[in-house]
Amino acid sequence: MTGVIVGCLGGLYSVLSDGKRYDCRARGSFRHDKNPPLVGDRCVFSADEKLGFVIDKLEARKNALIRPSVANIDYLIIAVAVRSPAPDTLYIDKLTSVAVYNKITPVVAVTKADLDPAAAENFKEIYKKAKLPVFVTSSATGEGVSDLREFIASHSDATLSFAGASGVGKSSLLNAIFPDLSLKTGAVSEKIERGRHTTRANSLFPMSELIDGATGFIADTPGFSMLDFIEFNFFPREELPHTFPEFEGYLGKCRWRDCTHGKEDGCAITEAVARGEIAKSRRESFLKMDEELSKKNAWE
Ligand code: GDP
Ligand code: ZN
Repeated sequence: MTGVIVGCLGGLYSVLSDGKRYDCRARGSFRHDKNPPLVGDRCVFSADEKLGFVIDKLEARKNALIRPSVANIDYLIIAVAVRSPAPDTLYIDKLTSVAVYNKITPVVAVTKADLDPAAAENFKEIYKKAKLPVFVTSSATGEGVSDLREFIASHSDATLSFAGASGVGKSSLLNAIFPDLSLKTGAVSEKIERGRHTTRANSLFPMSELIDGATGFIADTPGFSMLDFIEFNFFPREELPHTFPEFEGYLGKCRWRDCTHGKEDGCAITEAVARGEIAKSRRESFLKMDEELSKKNAWE
C-alpha cells in the first residue's frame, strides 16, 4: 500500500492511506541508514506477520527540513505583524530565502493590518516587488482572511506550513481562516511559547477535514517560529542571490562578473534598487545574509 506519513512518535509512524490511518514501524533497514522516515514522506508499506504494518520504502523527497523535521513542504506561509511585535525584515527574508532554496514557495501574510494600515501596504509593495504572493490580513477586522482562505483552497493538494515569530498572530489567523480548526486539532492552534521546549510530535493535519476534496496537509510542527530552521538549513553563499526571486532578471548583468552586489560600480541590482524595482529592505537583507554566509562558509 502507499500512503503519507502524517505523524511520528517514539518510533511509531502514523500513515494515512485512502482516508485510513495505520500505525507502522520502519523496517530495520532504516535504522542503519542516515535517512529515517520523516513526517511528510510518501511511503510504501505492508503488513508483516510478526511486526504488524511496516514502512518498506520512501519515495524521493522534494525537500527535508531538519528542524522541524518534516519532508515535502510546498508552501511556507510567513506571518509578519505590522507591529506588536515589531517586524524584523531580516528574519522574514531569511525565511523566504531558506524556503526558496528548499523549493518551497514562500507566501507572506501581513498580520494585524488594523494596527497600521499604511505599514501593511508598505509590506505589500515590498513583497509584490519580490514576486512573492502577499496577503494583508487582520484577524481583528477580518480583512484579507477570505483571500488567504481562497489561496489555500486553490492549493488544497499541497502541504503548507505556517511560520513567524511568536505573537504575530498565527493562531488567530489560522482560526479566522478555518473556524473549525481549533475544535478539530486543538494542536495547530495551540500556542507555543518561544524558548519553551515542547515534546509534542510533528504531525500533518489533513486539509480534507477543512475543505471538501482536499488531498493536502497543514503542517503542525513544534517550534512554529522556525528559528532553528534557519540555523540548521543554511546554504552555500553562491546560492544566495538565486533565493531572491526579484534578483533573477538582473543576475549576470552587473559590470563585474564576480560582483557581490555591494558597492561595486555598474551593479545591476544596485541600479534596480535605485529605480525602485527592488525594495531597499530586501537588498539590505541580502547584504547582511551575504556577510553572514561569507563568514560561515569561510569557517567551515
Ligand atoms: P501567535 O503566537 O503567532 O500564534 O499569535 P496569536 O494568534 O496568539 O496572537 C498574539 C496576540 O495578538 C493576541 O493577543 C491576539 O489577540 C493579538 N492579535 C492577533 N491577531 C490580531 C489582529 O489582527 N489585530 C490585532 N489588533 N491584534 C491581533
Ligand atoms: Zn551586482
